[in-house]
Amino acid sequence: MYNSKSPHAEEFICHEEVMDALEYGVKNKDNKEEIQKVLEQAATMKGLNHRQVSLLLACEDQEVINKLYEIAEQIKLHIYGRRIVLFAPLYLSNYCVNACRYCAYHNKNCEMQRKQLSQEEIVKEVVALQDMGHKRLALETGEDPVNCPIEYVLESIKTIYGIKHKNGAIRRVNVNIAATTVENYRKLKEAGIGTYILFQETYHKPTYEYMHPKGPKHNYAYHTEAMDRAMEGGIDDVGIGALLGLYDHKYDVVAMMLHIKHLEDVHGVGPHTISVPRIRPAEGVEEVYPHAVPDEEFKKIVAILRCAVPYTGIIISTRESPQLRAEVIRLGVSQVSGGSSTGIGGYAKENEEQREDTAQFEVNDHRTLDQVIGWLCESGYVPSFCTACYREGRTGDRFMSLAKAGQICNVCQPNALMTLKEYREDYASPQTKESIDRVIAEEVKHISNEKVKAITLENLDKIAHGERDFRF
Ligand code: SF4
Ligand code: SF4
Repeated sequence: MYNSKSPHAEEFICHEEVMDALEYGVKNKDNKEEIQKVLEQAATMKGLNHRQVSLLLACEDQEVINKLYEIAEQIKLHIYGRRIVLFAPLYLSNYCVNACRYCAYHNKNCEMQRKQLSQEEIVKEVVALQDMGHKRLALETGEDPVNCPIEYVLESIKTIYGIKHKNGAIRRVNVNIAATTVENYRKLKEAGIGTYILFQETYHKPTYEYMHPKGPKHNYAYHTEAMDRAMEGGIDDVGIGALLGLYDHKYDVVAMMLHIKHLEDVHGVGPHTISVPRIRPAEGVEEVYPHAVPDEEFKKIVAILRCAVPYTGIIISTRESPQLRAEVIRLGVSQVSGGSSTGIGGYAKENEEQREDTAQFEVNDHRTLDQVIGWLCESGYVPSFCTACYREGRTGDRFMSLAKAGQICNVCQPNALMTLKEYREDYASPQTKESIDRVIAEEVKHISNEKVKAITLENLDKIAHGERDFRF
């Protein structure tokens, strides 16, 4: 039976409740009055529940979809302005004991060259990432208690935070590792991680079990309850996501809403971020995906999520093409990766070959970080390397209450400009410098608090003269 506060996965992600909500959506998809009510609620920026989400997912009326896009765009602009936060994934190890049917790292893939970065190699990778201008990383590893134990991950985090190369620094390390114990989550918290990220892949249990036929990941309940253990271990910023296309995306999006409600009801705070990866071709994977999500439907999912959870960041990776990234950024995405490599040791130049042999999936946006920054600026966005909240202790419910009170923008905007200025001084190409200068000159005018504006201008000047790391 559905119980959002239950500790058991099958009760807080209750299959019958999801099916019921999906049925409600299908039955009411032409009910103009119901749809109008949902759109009106979305416009209040107070979020939507899983039944309302189901209704929007079912709706095929292009007029309604256009209205949905309009509202999503307004919410995005109101809460996030034109800012886009940048990050890069860093793959540490592709040893994996699981057999996920969609991933090139699955343990039956004999073609895959297995590799774990040594601490010296991590230094090289991070120096390369710092030289690109990155400040925020997402660590990725396969699951292997012998070849990639928690101690290795902890040591790697310490190494990464300790690297100070020229003006570079990694200021926030998010971690995407397999579901683990409360004790290990506590260790990750103590190591100073930002967000703990774990994708559910699919919430549909039979498909989940089919897609993960062997290994610890086969256990649906252990995986689905991981965020509860993470929060029990003291991690209050968690990032969720479903691998869209493994199963019917409508089921997964509605179930994801139940997961969010569960986290809010039990821990008082929902996810910090939602990732929306779509299934991509991968080396050594022959699975056929009848539920693959077409572009138009994907845009709709992003817009619906933006309306349903206005204060949760939405992340998109380089799995998507530049064109599609542009469209979903407009509709709600707030964080993007740039210049990414999905191979082990893919950033340090001497590992060019290894990059190809060890990639988890194919990327679809091959632009450099500098090109992505230039493109964002020219498209009217403000690229941001801000990591201030985590470093100021604004996490979990403290972050959410500031976000919901609309106060977080007052710090996001100047922080974005100051970190963009750092990027300009240290890493930008001449052409990108020009674009950044235009963006900063324009955006600084929009800082409404005169005192904050004055401090920002002063700090921008100090950055131009060599000082670094200012934040509100
Ligand atoms: Fe291993 Fe993760 Fe790939 Fe599954 S998705 S095979 S757990 S690396
Ligand atoms: Fe994110 Fe906080 Fe920086 Fe805003 S101030 S961009 S919420 S880290």
